[in-house]
Amino acid sequence: MIINHHLDESTLFSYVAGALSQGLALAVASHISLCKHCQNRASGMEGIGGALLDQIAPETIHESSLEDVLARLDDIPLSSASGSVMSRPNSKFNKPKPRLSDVPVPLNEYIGESLDAVKWKRLIPGFFYIDIFTKGEGTCRLLKVNPGKSILPHGHQGSELTLLLRGSFSDDRGQFNPGDISDLDNETEHELLADSEQGCICLLVTDAPLRFLSPWGKLIQRVTGF
Ligand SMILES: [Zn+2]
Repeated sequence: MIINHHLDESTLFSYVAGALSQGLALAVASHISLCKHCQNRASGMEGIGGALLDQIAPETIHESSLEDVLARLDDIPLSSASGSVMSRPNSKFNKPKPRLSDVPVPLNEYIGESLDAVKWKRLIPGFFYIDIFTKGEGTCRLLKVNPGKSILPHGHQGSELTLLLRGSFSDDRGQFNPGDISDLDNETEHELLADSEQGCICLLVTDAPLRFLSPWGKLIQRVTGF
């Protein structure tokens, strides 16, 4: 599996710090289970975070924002931080293993081990889904999109993680293939097109409702719950 689209540093750090919502954490864990590159980054952050905690007084940590902590990471030598992680036997980030299933391990308990066995519900013509979590303001759903269909142009009021599991989709950042993750914040607007013959299946997680840009999109949003 060749993965070209990875997690942002701030998302990965929030995951390591345990600061993500359940749905976003599931998407991150699923991507990491497939992606050695992000697995190594997460392991490195885990070690750097430990080194950081050793160096910063507790009251300073208490008042730090995520941005402060990320800025401080640059001051910690990688060699001392990552060395301890590599020798730690019980790191929570297991090495990705070759798998026959196209469902990442963290998703197994929610949808089983085969995308072909998913019992899809119809959302609107060309779109099928199952909700994985329904708590909170955003969505955490498995989405199947027929070829040529698109999620209409929209922005975000929070984070949107989209992990591609089968087929492909594209937007102005390029094409996303199985294992790739789209990691967006509230500054980006885009339109996702299922651009392969088989359409696409993806895990789509948000922590706030999408912001559709057209009247038609806003109407569709009322029906789909995005
Ligand atoms: Zn990655």
